Order: sequence, then C-alpha cells, then structure tokens
Amino acid sequence: MTSSVRLTGIESPVPTGLFVGGEWRAASSGATFDVLDPADGSLLAQVADGTTDDVTAAVDAAAAALPGFAATPPRQRSEMLRRAFQIMTDRADEFARLMSLENGKALPDAKAELTYAAEFFRWFAEEAVRIDGDYRVAPAGGTRTVVTHQPVGVCLLVTPWNFPAAMLTRKLGPAIAAGCTSVVKPAEDTPLTALLLAQVLTEAGVPDGVVNVVPTMDAKEVVATAMADPRLRKISFTGSTEVGKVLLKQAADQVLVSSMELGGNAPFVVCADADLDAAVDGAMLAKMRNGGEACTAANRFYVQAPVAEAFAGKLAERMAAMTTGRGTDEGVTLGPLVNEETVAKVDRIVTDTVGAGARVLTGGTRPQGPGFFYPPTVLVDVPVGAPALTEETFGPVAPITTFDTDEQALALANATPFGLVAYVFTGDLARGLRLAEALESGMVGINRGVVSDPAAPFGGVKQSGLGREGGHEGIGEYLTTKYVSFPL
Ligand code: ADP
Repeated sequence: MTSSVRLTGIESPVPTGLFVGGEWRAASSGATFDVLDPADGSLLAQVADGTTDDVTAAVDAAAAALPGFAATPPRQRSEMLRRAFQIMTDRADEFARLMSLENGKALPDAKAELTYAAEFFRWFAEEAVRIDGDYRVAPAGGTRTVVTHQPVGVCLLVTPWNFPAAMLTRKLGPAIAAGCTSVVKPAEDTPLTALLLAQVLTEAGVPDGVVNVVPTMDAKEVVATAMADPRLRKISFTGSTEVGKVLLKQAADQVLVSSMELGGNAPFVVCADADLDAAVDGAMLAKMRNGGEACTAANRFYVQAPVAEAFAGKLAERMAAMTTGRGTDEGVTLGPLVNEETVAKVDRIVTDTVGAGARVLTGGTRPQGPGFFYPPTVLVDVPVGAPALTEETFGPVAPITTFDTDEQALALANATPFGLVAYVFTGDLARGLRLAEALESGMVGINRGVVSDPAAPFGGVKQSGLGREGGHEGIGEYLTTKYVSFPL
C-alpha cells in the first residue's frame, strides 16, 4: 500500500501505512485509526492500525536484516545517519509543521524539537566510527584478552507523543550507529512524524528491514507480542513510569536489555542570591518549553522566602503574556495540549490544588470551546502534598512554595520517588554545586532551564528510569561487550 495524506502547508504527502521490511503496507486487519488535530479535535489523518501479526512481521524483517546490517562498515552506518541529519535539516519546516499539527505544540517549540532531533543523528553519526575495544594482558602474564563491542540485536523502540521526532531519533540514532535493527512503536496520538522519519531514513540509504514502524491503537497487545518474541534482544522505552514497570516485568521473561526513560517530577530551586530575571527566564524555559509537556518540565518551584513574592510576580507576568492558540498560527507561543485526557488531568490537578489551599496568580481555569487548551497558570501558597507537587502535571502549571534553608530545599526536592532532572538558580556556583551533588536526580541544570543535549547522557535515577540516552553513554545501550581470551 502506498497510502499517504496531504496536509495543509506540507509539500510532500505524509505516509500513513505500516513500514515493514522497506515496504509500506496496510494493517493485516485492514483497520485504520484516527489522528486528531488537538487545536479543534478534527480529523487530521487515518493511519494503519497495526496488529500482533503485523508486529511479528516487523520482527521478522528486523531479524532478517540484522546479520547484514551488523556487519556493515561503521563508516557506512555513520554516513546514513549524517545524510538523515541533512535531510531533516533541509526539511525542517515541513517536520516542524507536521509535529505542530499532530501534537499541537507551537511552531517555535516544534522547530526547536526538530533541531534537537536531527542533532541525535549527527551526534551518533560521529559515534558510529568510535566504537572501541581493547587488548589486555592477564595479571599473571600469558593470557591475552581482546575486548570488543557488538550490536545488541533486534530492538523494540516505544516512544511517547510529547517529542514525536526527538524521542525516536535519540533511540534510532544509536541503534543504527551500533548496527542494530529496530521495530518502532510510536505513540498513537503522533504516528505521522515517525512514519515521515522512516521515509527519510530510507532516502538516507538505511537498508530495508533495519527500521520498521508499526503504529497501533492496541499498544498493550502489540508491544507484549514483540516483547515475547525470542528474536527480540532489547527494549528502549520512553513514557510513563506506570507503563515502564509493566514493560520491565515483560522484559524479565526474556532477560531483555532494557533502557527506560520514565516520569519526572523536576524541582526548580531558586536561592535568594540568584539573579531573579535569569531565574525567571530559566523558569519559562524549564516550565513552558513544549507547553509543559516534557518529562524534564519544572514541576515544582521552591523559592527562598525573601525573593518568593518577587519571583512569583515576575513569573506570573511572563506566563500571562504568552499567546495561546493553534500551534501552527503565527505568533502563538502556547498551543493546545495533546488530547482530552491530558487537559482533563491538568484541570483536575489545578482544581484539587486550589481546593487544598493554593492561590491562583494567573490562569487556573480551562477555557470553553473546542480543542484541548489550558492557560498558563501560576499557583502560590501551595501546601506540601498538594497534587500539583506530587503528580507529574505535564501542562503549563507552575506551583510555587517557599523554603528557608538549603537543607529544607533539598528535603523538599528529594521527597519524591522520581529523579530525572532538577534545576538550581543561585549566584554562588559552589552553593549550586553542593546542591547539585545532593539532589537525587540524573541531571541538574545550574542557572540553566534546559539540560537536554544530544552530546550529554540524558537519564534518571530512582523511578525515573534506567540507562542513558545521548552522549558517549548512549551508544553503549545498544552494544554488548564480548571478550576473546587466548594464550600467548
Ligand atoms: P504518556 O503518559 O506519555 O502517554 P504512556 O506510558 O502511556 O505515556 O505511553 C508511552 C508509549 O507507551 C506510547 O507509545 C503508548 O502507546 C505505549 N503504551 C501505553 N500503554 C502500554 C502498554 N500497556 N504496553 C506497552 N506500551 C504501552
């Protein structure tokens, strides 16, 4: 099947089929599912609804392609990724528009994502030719040990809707660089970007069967089927901690190599000695990048008492000045949230937090009308234990509380089962480093509202996940270590 959809403002047709073994096909059931425009809930496209048979066919294709691809010279794999980076960059506007259409995010956010996403291909193009090994002499002499790294094998990559391109290139980049083959299960709200990416990778010379994409509305069964397939060797998942735990249990049955990027509950700590305007700039980024729909989003603000009122006032002013509307409209800085479930959750968290005693400085009420919009919201006097502090809101809501001492700030910040990222603003770098070392998180931004960087090892501690994506560490997740021992 060669089905595709033409979308306003996008020059070439966007594929809507399954991509298996280098071919576009319909689902084995013939079924499709609807992808909606979050700005008004209207139909954007109908995409093939993959079945358990389809995902098995995708594993067949990936398994068949594996030996040949694993043996491809690293330079060739590197050049495929470099070409894919270039194509994405050349078609940046098209990708950004597509992501804005299916996810709802404002165009500036979509453009930033596209740059970030493409950069994973460039970074891993550079890593593909740096896979190392070593030659060791046994302590007692005689025996030699040659250590080498080989591709893990067939990978299942399950991605979320919040960064439809970047969450996939962050996995596909190292998978391709390492010589692995993959089956991709994109999120049901945003499958189009993954399908367009598959087309780009084909154009870039990635052989048939190396990347297969199976969108589905039946994530549970389709993913479980692939996880139970004895040819699968790895799962890489980005999504909720709840689903991550389910997948880790499934992974145990086959002892799959597992990488998990799960939920966050990022604290944003502002010390009284911080440059307050820089802290507000950082807060706008950490909170509002992608409309708050990021696992790295600042979820809880802890501000030292002497500057709390001033910080809250400045942040509320900046938040209230944002322009909300359809993501693709000129000048819009905050699009709709992705779907009804997400906006209903944000609404519930704000209502319950206000019910618990918080005060609204701006926003706080879901607007009437079509689409999944929620206004930028700042809450102050938020009591400990309120839902806005304990749940991952995934929306444009900034709950602010105060602290007096650094010990208090640390106790509050660390009182969560999650540990993805934390942000600290202070005028004293040593104080910032002391806090950074004591914060229980995989990443810390000091005087910065963004930590995501393809050249850095992204990942969490505690229930935020296992493994790292990006940096030198990223490719290691797709390699196994083997040694060969021999006497000399
Ligand atoms: P979010 O809360 O961001 O939607 P989810 O964890 O629900 O995160 O979804 C992330 C990805 O996991 C999506 O691709 C989704 O389809 C998939 N998914 C959801 N539930 C399951 C499940 N039970 N088994 C396997 N994959 C799932």
